[in-house]
Amino acid sequence: MTGRGWILLVAALALVGAVVVAVPRLEGGEPVIEMVSELVVGAAPREVGIELSDEGAGLRTLEVRLAHAGGETALLDRRFPGGWLQGGARGTDRQHLVVRVDAGSLGLADGDAELVVAARDWSWRGAFAGNRSELRIPVRIDTLPPRLDVESGLTYVHRGGSAAVVYRVDPDAAEHGVRVGDAVFHGFSLNGDSSRKLALFAVPVDAPPEPAVYVVAVDAAGNETQASFPARILEREFERATVSLPAGFLTRVVSALASATGVRTDDPVAAFQEINVEIRRRNEDRIREVVRGSGNERYWEGAFSQLPGSVVTSGFAEQRSYRVEGRPVSEARHYGFDLASTRAAPVTAANAGVVLFADDLGIYGNCVILDHGQGLTSLYGHLSRLDVQVGDRVAKDQPLGLSGATGLAGGDHLHFAILVGGTYVDPLEWWDPKWVHSHVETRIGTGE
Ligand SMILES: [Zn+2]
Repeated sequence: MTGRGWILLVAALALVGAVVVAVPRLEGGEPVIEMVSELVVGAAPREVGIELSDEGAGLRTLEVRLAHAGGETALLDRRFPGGWLQGGARGTDRQHLVVRVDAGSLGLADGDAELVVAARDWSWRGAFAGNRSELRIPVRIDTLPPRLDVESGLTYVHRGGSAAVVYRVDPDAAEHGVRVGDAVFHGFSLNGDSSRKLALFAVPVDAPPEPAVYVVAVDAAGNETQASFPARILEREFERATVSLPAGFLTRVVSALASATGVRTDDPVAAFQEINVEIRRRNEDRIREVVRGSGNERYWEGAFSQLPGSVVTSGFAEQRSYRVEGRPVSEARHYGFDLASTRAAPVTAANAGVVLFADDLGIYGNCVILDHGQGLTSLYGHLSRLDVQVGDRVAKDQPLGLSGATGLAGGDHLHFAILVGGTYVDPLEWWDPKWVHSHVETRIGTGE
């Protein structure tokens, strides 16, 4: 080949090489920006996640700015590693970024704004400017906390007991209720008045000493208002009991429940320990999930009824120590009342409600949970027969099924419990017409 021939060949190869590199680099696919479609920002800084990806040349830059009444503020300016020849992060190599919108430190006034999010890639298009994609996210800045006025005055509540508080809150409050220490009790609307709310609450048996009690409202922007009211907590002691587990109970009840719940059965004491701790915890989690279905409609009226003709064999929140041949093997708190009647006695609804649950529930055997409305629910365990289904409306004293000894039960009895929110409370208060009238019904007053 002549010298000229060689030069032509090298030039041709260089041209092919340039085309091989340039064609993919000239791709026209824009970066993809994924994030929320709208935003409400309150007094507290708000962090917003942004997810970026690019299928072609790869990600090059991201700019985020906030356009508001006072002008524009740059919030984020990022360059991603890469170059004109090799491109940048592409395909499954996604970028996760967080942008912080802090209305307070930016001195932003309440009102509408816009978050402008723009990304570029390493494409050679647009005279090497790259493909650009842009999202404009509407932002509402609202730093005003919701208005909250507590109507109820001095409120006495026992540890393990219930109480009611009535308050008024801005209609834009997204969430409201009562906090007792770490426990949250959601509030509900009272009929006929959109701003007047009722929250039933309780002091959990295991709450720390003197937990803070206050009404709280949070709006969509996350602004929170707390309002205290004079709530006095009356301390009380709970009983301790020793429960001896007979050999027959371990071989009969525990092994059957163990095989039904997937617990190893070769050592009946170990099986009991696992059921009493692990299966119990799983069942209690399920109960808390079920009672979250309690709705705004109030079905209950007046005092709750105790199972007719029944005898109390074990009280509320008794701390039980389980023994086998005198040796302590496990502990648990008993958050209900055990009520003994005749064998296979009709079990009746303690108040009007709707069936939230009617099925097998581990240690509680065949179990019914009723929603009485506004966060108040009741539970009936160890039934031998279920006569209701989820969604059924039931009247007070209507039969739900027959008593039995299903689940972790030594003999035929009803395990009865009442919950306020996700917290077990002492049914004695709800069985007492005077308590229900003076602590709850008079509080609600003429609004309902
Ligand atoms: Zn019980």
